[in-house]
Amino acid sequence: MSERVIGCRSEISHLLDKYHLTARKQYGQNFLVEPSVINRIVEQVDEEDTVIEIGPGLGSLTLPLAQKAKRVIALEIDPQLCAILREELGECGNLEIRNQDILKADLSSLFAEISGPISIVSNLPYYITSEILMKLLTESSRITRIVAMMQKEVAERFFKKEADKDYGPLQVIAPYYSQAQLLCRVNRRNFLPQPNVDSAVVVFTIRPYHRAVANEAGLLEIIRACYRQRRKIVLTNLLSSGYHINKQQLNDINIKETARCEQLSLDDYINLNEVLSND
Ligand code: SAM
Repeated sequence: MSERVIGCRSEISHLLDKYHLTARKQYGQNFLVEPSVINRIVEQVDEEDTVIEIGPGLGSLTLPLAQKAKRVIALEIDPQLCAILREELGECGNLEIRNQDILKADLSSLFAEISGPISIVSNLPYYITSEILMKLLTESSRITRIVAMMQKEVAERFFKKEADKDYGPLQVIAPYYSQAQLLCRVNRRNFLPQPNVDSAVVVFTIRPYHRAVANEAGLLEIIRACYRQRRKIVLTNLLSSGYHINKQQLNDINIKETARCEQLSLDDYINLNEVLSND
């Protein structure tokens, strides 16, 4: 395969001109044009990996991923970009472009088509970052790692020592499924068109948590219920979501009856899940 580079300013500009294309804001299209950032991301995957790339765009990451990994399946919502990618990257025999909305994708049947380790790579469409990460993490049993570019402020939330107002169910649940590492910060100038925010790349290495939870869906529902009205105490939120729990049961697992959602750790939520599952 030739040493062609797509992820640079001149090539992305050329492709936009060639196909009379305007980046679609509603799909969060900001194309990566900095080869050193692309290299950092691609370095994270292994040669035996099948990579599922979410939102390949014009192929900045897709081509070097296909040059490195065993196989790449790229899921792109925009049919116009799918057609361009098929034309431009048709020579990559280990690459499949699928016109697919990741939020509607059936991941378990996708994973069933794949043998060997699976890595997910994405310069995420920012308007649905949390939804995509929640979907990937909660269905991550077959995934080895997720390498995800996101808005810098969103990335930093995964590394806060203490939960605060920016914390949400995704930040609570992420450590249950994965160990997160901040790979690099990426200045907004490295995208075309330039967004209004800087970015960062986070690597989520999927691993089992030291406490296994039988009912993971139930755990997530409880976390969501507790975060439903952040200004209210957890007890009120749980009761108004239909759970049966009292002050004493909270105290028994070392949760104050006046506690608010961000004062509870992941282990507190797991304890709550145990109490509520025995109800
Ligand atoms: N990977 C390319 C890059 O780094 O230059 C493009 C990244 S751009 C930030 C996000 C991409 O995700 C766009 O190509 C966009 O069309 C695509 N996208 C947006 N929503 C999507 C969805 N629900 N499912 C799949 N792809 C989506």
